[in-house]
Amino acid sequence: MSTDSTSAASPVAAAGPATLDRIASVRISSVILPLAVPISDAKVLTGRQRPMTEVAMLFAEITTESGHEGVGFGYSKRAGGPGQFAHAKEIAPVLIGEDPSDIAKIWDKLVWAGASVGRSGLSVQAIAAFDIALWDLKAKRAGLPLAKLLGAHRDSVRTYNTSGGFLHAPIEEVLEKSSAAVAAGIGGIKIKVGQPDSAADLARVAAVREHLGAGVPLMVDANQQWDRATARRMCRALDGYDLVWIEEPLDAYDAEGHAMLAATFDTPIATGEMLTSVAEHAELIRLRGADIVQPDAPRIGGITPFLKVMGLADHAGLSLAPHFAMEIHVHLAAAYAREPWVEHFEWLDPLFDEHLEISGGRMHVSDRPGLGVTISEQARAWTVATANIVG
Ligand SMILES: [Mg+2]
Repeated sequence: MSTDSTSAASPVAAAGPATLDRIASVRISSVILPLAVPISDAKVLTGRQRPMTEVAMLFAEITTESGHEGVGFGYSKRAGGPGQFAHAKEIAPVLIGEDPSDIAKIWDKLVWAGASVGRSGLSVQAIAAFDIALWDLKAKRAGLPLAKLLGAHRDSVRTYNTSGGFLHAPIEEVLEKSSAAVAAGIGGIKIKVGQPDSAADLARVAAVREHLGAGVPLMVDANQQWDRATARRMCRALDGYDLVWIEEPLDAYDAEGHAMLAATFDTPIATGEMLTSVAEHAELIRLRGADIVQPDAPRIGGITPFLKVMGLADHAGLSLAPHFAMEIHVHLAAAYAREPWVEHFEWLDPLFDEHLEISGGRMHVSDRPGLGVTISEQARAWTVATANIVG
């Protein structure tokens, strides 16, 4: 037993009991979030996927013996939600009795519990919800927003809207939503491209650039639907629109192809959202396959692996623009050394009681402890499965 902190009045003694705290229970929930309209990006127009009508959320709520609580979440689109829930339920018992502060150790323990199904993809996406809940819990216990616990470089992050620029929307609607986003204080606008008809893509980009004017940051996202020859032609054609970046011009795993584009054209290349592990990001970064890396914490296994990707990206001198899940990524982007971007989607708003403040082109880190979110009654109503794991 430690004897170096026997005075109840000392800060060390006050911190002591926390290290004796243990995870007492875990609750996981599968929540089906409906979308207002079916969503189509280029993967739908090329026939690879059906329009998206809902997002399958995986929530984890972790409670300790001392009554501390953390909430985390992951997600899947179109397929995978029931698989993520099933894997999370199977490995959750290894959390019970662990010190919730030992997040790195717990991440390893969870991945070893499911080692047979690998260290990427669905298996680590099930771990992500737990990992994010543990970081939320740790920051809440410290009384700090997660960004502050990690060590923030800033208290707000540049933000751009994606949800208004999908391909199911006619151009008039895209223009209207882009104006509304800018009026709401969102700094940039991203639109989807990658249609089989490249001329139609270029017409939409030209229309949005003309509508917004030269001063508004504009990005495009091809969602992996070009081959290398098409990507070269399109990057050349798009170089004149002063885009902040061209996203996923090629297959997500074609790091060499992305590196060729990044080295050839003036417009920065962004990619990484589809990668599902630190190892995959490490390879992308090693090959300089992106000027701007786009990791997604729920997709790569949580905040613990995301911090490793941040380290690699910063060391390589790259920019960061995390994919989706702004409620988590605003904190992580705030802790990145180089001025990043956070992607604005309003889709997850109904799941939480609190909402992020946006003004002046930036998304602000709230002063609430942890992630700063509480699961809403609406999210509870959309819950289709739960599992409670106790010691
Ligand atoms: Mg994208």
